[in-house]
Amino acid sequence: MNLLTQSLASLGRTGKSLEKKLSLFGIETCEDLIFYFPRRFDDFSLILPIADLRPQITATIRGRIDMIANRRSRRSRMIVTEALVSDSSGSVKLVWFNQPFLTKNLRVGDWVSVSGKTNDLFYDLQMVSPTYERLTENETMHTGRLAPVYSLPANVTQKQFRLLIREALDRCLHYINEWLPHDIRTHERYPDLAAALLSIHFPENREEYDAAVRRFKFEELFLLQLFCAHLRQSLTAQSSYAIPFDEKITKRLIAALPFTLTKEQKTVAWEILCDMQRATPMSRLLQGDVGSGKTIVAILAMLNVVRAGYQCAFMAPTEVLAQQHFQTLRRVLEAFDVSIVLLTANNALSNLSFSSRTEILCAVSSGTVDIIIGTHALIQERVQFANLALAIVDEQHRFGVNQRKMLREKNSTPTMPHVLSMTATPIPRSLALTVYGDLDISTIRTLPKGRAPIITKIVPPQYRTWTYDFMCKEVARGRQAFVLCPIITSSDVLGVRSVTDEYERLKSGPFAGLRIAKLHGRMKADQKERVMREFCDGLIDILVTTSVVEVGIDVPNANVMLIEGAERFGLAQLHQLRGRVGRAQHQSYCFLAPTEENKEEFARLKAVVSSNDGFALAEKDLALRGEGDIVGLRQSGLPRLSIATLTDIDLIQKARSYATAYYMQRERYPELKKRIDAFQRDVHRE
Ligand code: ADP
Ligand code: MG
Repeated sequence: MNLLTQSLASLGRTGKSLEKKLSLFGIETCEDLIFYFPRRFDDFSLILPIADLRPQITATIRGRIDMIANRRSRRSRMIVTEALVSDSSGSVKLVWFNQPFLTKNLRVGDWVSVSGKTNDLFYDLQMVSPTYERLTENETMHTGRLAPVYSLPANVTQKQFRLLIREALDRCLHYINEWLPHDIRTHERYPDLAAALLSIHFPENREEYDAAVRRFKFEELFLLQLFCAHLRQSLTAQSSYAIPFDEKITKRLIAALPFTLTKEQKTVAWEILCDMQRATPMSRLLQGDVGSGKTIVAILAMLNVVRAGYQCAFMAPTEVLAQQHFQTLRRVLEAFDVSIVLLTANNALSNLSFSSRTEILCAVSSGTVDIIIGTHALIQERVQFANLALAIVDEQHRFGVNQRKMLREKNSTPTMPHVLSMTATPIPRSLALTVYGDLDISTIRTLPKGRAPIITKIVPPQYRTWTYDFMCKEVARGRQAFVLCPIITSSDVLGVRSVTDEYERLKSGPFAGLRIAKLHGRMKADQKERVMREFCDGLIDILVTTSVVEVGIDVPNANVMLIEGAERFGLAQLHQLRGRVGRAQHQSYCFLAPTEENKEEFARLKAVVSSNDGFALAEKDLALRGEGDIVGLRQSGLPRLSIATLTDIDLIQKARSYATAYYMQRERYPELKKRIDAFQRDVHRE
């Protein structure tokens, strides 16, 4: 029987209560246990004769206990255990506090190995609270070596856990199947899996440990890359509608625009149109800073699809944005005979030619509608398409694996739509190669000409009035402004400025007499729509709102944004928020108002002040917050990296090139194939 998958009870060392505690840490089976790696090591590998001990060093000694006794300290009333240990070179005193049971564990005459730090007194040298274990013919586990230290639940001791790990390793290692191909292991000089497991818990030395870590890091990235290869491969196995490039109509649309496309807009549009000419599904991510003009690129793609006789779905993260896209598309495609509908939670309002939701759904499934616009919930709904050829997801990095599956089921015939995701959050290179490793990526790096950089300032509390005055002046010149709060009502988080409170306060205070409105996600859809439309039409001067305006909203006349509670946002997100202004020729401003005056926060926010480069800010976010928080990682449905880091580009690249080669030959490597299949099952279960 394979012990690996057995519960911890099979080790015969645990009780119900220990098992329960460990299960909280995700450790249920022997396999979980041996793959639970130490957080760090105590380096007790320096073994010295007692006579060579010096003050303030960490070392291990081996000797015999000559004396051990408890006494009560006079000053602190603590129980102090003192022992004297000697070897052939000399003897030394050991001291522990409040562990009276020690005199039961250790007896005069016992041979022990003792590790710890010495005090700083030459004339009264002691080891204080050392770790000890009795010397037997077995290898030591807690002393005289690199001793693993694990993150553990309360009341589980390191000693207890090490014993458990040791037991599991002894009994399970021969059930472990190596799955890394032999060639890779020899070429990269990685230890085999069993050896690596042993050395990651109980290494003989640093080098051995490092070698094991190198292997596990590679392993993790390799698996991720194999999965990417799998995604790519399974996509090419599916069919989609091939969309011929209609040069004439494309040129006509471009000529009708009030601006000329930038070089990069043309390039990425071309990449997309080329992808779609194939009968295998496109899976592409279009990244471009806020305001770089992604929408028009999407429209060019959609127009070609519609001309070929197929349907498009255009999905936005919020209803407000869906509505704005709806208006933009209707305007831009007005002269092109394209039928567009908007489907949001409770509307049929803006679709003049339809009287009900059911009617819209009917039209979509019968194919009389060319483009359907909605929120990301669109694919969850019971919308059936006649022939969906292109799905565009705005402001989301990608579709999860499962979402993509749902997408295919939207069509009456099993045809996979081409998928284009669009995002303003720049993707650091390491993420592009891992989390987004299955996607093709197009990038727009430069903004259309004529946009002055946004002036960004941090606003300490004493400058608040000045800021309001400044905003009033801009409004007097005909401009509009945003006041952005991190929360809707103050009961959401105490001490942080909220939309509701700020709206009331500003209306009767600093902005009295101005046209001011609020907009947030808890308002009714038609209310939101009304406010948004009024703001777009210039009927509102100041819009107090939340990050619902983060994505996509385009009001060129707005040129000031005040961000309250700025410390609550990531750098890349602030950059994105700031992109709501600066969309026209007016000089634009972004004021960052942290909740409190805090040096560290100011320093972090300074990055947004001094940099207008979304890529740089995203890299900085990655460095500051680690990958745990990274946009898209959770969304992607991929497991978190546990040992590898996304900063190691070289290793990522190495793993990627091996994965490309070995995925193709996976049938020749049964263990490798098993691992890929297991990984896949995990992802699908997400
Ligand atoms: P985003 O990439 O953030 O989605 P949009 O597509 O909303 O950006 O474009 C922002 C604004 O820039 C829109 O008003 C759009 O009409 C305008 N725009 C797009 N491309 C160009 C261009 N090449 N020159 C000038 N303005 C452009
Ligand atoms: Mg956009």
